[in-house]
Amino acid sequence: MRKQFAIIGMGRFGSAIAKTLSQLGFEVLAIDQNEDTIQEVSTYVTHAVQADSTDEEAMRALGIRNFDVVVVAIGEDIQASILTTLILKELGIATTVVKAVNDLHGKVLKKIGADKVVYPERDMGQRVAHHLISSNIIDYIELSADYSIVEMKASKQMIGKSLRQLDVRAKYDCNVIAIKQNEKMIIPPSAEEALKQEDILVIVGKNSSLQTLEVTFA
Ligand code: ADP
Repeated sequence: MRKQFAIIGMGRFGSAIAKTLSQLGFEVLAIDQNEDTIQEVSTYVTHAVQADSTDEEAMRALGIRNFDVVVVAIGEDIQASILTTLILKELGIATTVVKAVNDLHGKVLKKIGADKVVYPERDMGQRVAHHLISSNIIDYIELSADYSIVEMKASKQMIGKSLRQLDVRAKYDCNVIAIKQNEKMIIPPSAEEALKQEDILVIVGKNSSLQTLEVTFA
């Protein structure tokens, strides 16, 4: 059985999730309180329903309990986001993924049992900032407040050198955990093989160490 997803709140974030999952062939139930929004969304998702997610009975009636993952993508109305999350947890949804607009909102969501809290604007802002430092930075994923993973194209100074020669671990206190060559992942990466132009390094480390590395190899 493929996973079934319900997405509540069809703003910019929620509708992007719903559209992508539908394009990937997954069944999606889209919920929004706004009728016009639902009309629009119904052109690309399996089921689109107009409902107020803070109405527990309405959620029950929709059979929300049958979904493996429910995403709460309500941003502006923080109260509705919190109430909805609470209702979903009370109904026993195994995995709730909830958008937070700020740290306090995120903290409350965690306290009431949200399984994953996401901060789309903050995360995208960080990614763009890293990309601005160096066009070699492809992606940046925060693991915790102190640690991250960076995907970085081999820069000019790296090409032709092996990981042993670059000595990233000793010099920058970071670990290269994988090298992507086209679609191929090399895990663990070879210490001796020289890096090539289109190689992408996946590096894990402390934020401060990664920043030094990024600036050095920008
Ligand atoms: P974004 O920043 O991703 O565009 P918004 O907060 O602007 O997110 O959009 C949230 C969406 O959630 C809107 O389409 C709104 O109609 C919907 N929404 C807000 N509260 C509820 C609710 N209680 N039940 C269902 N949908 C809601």
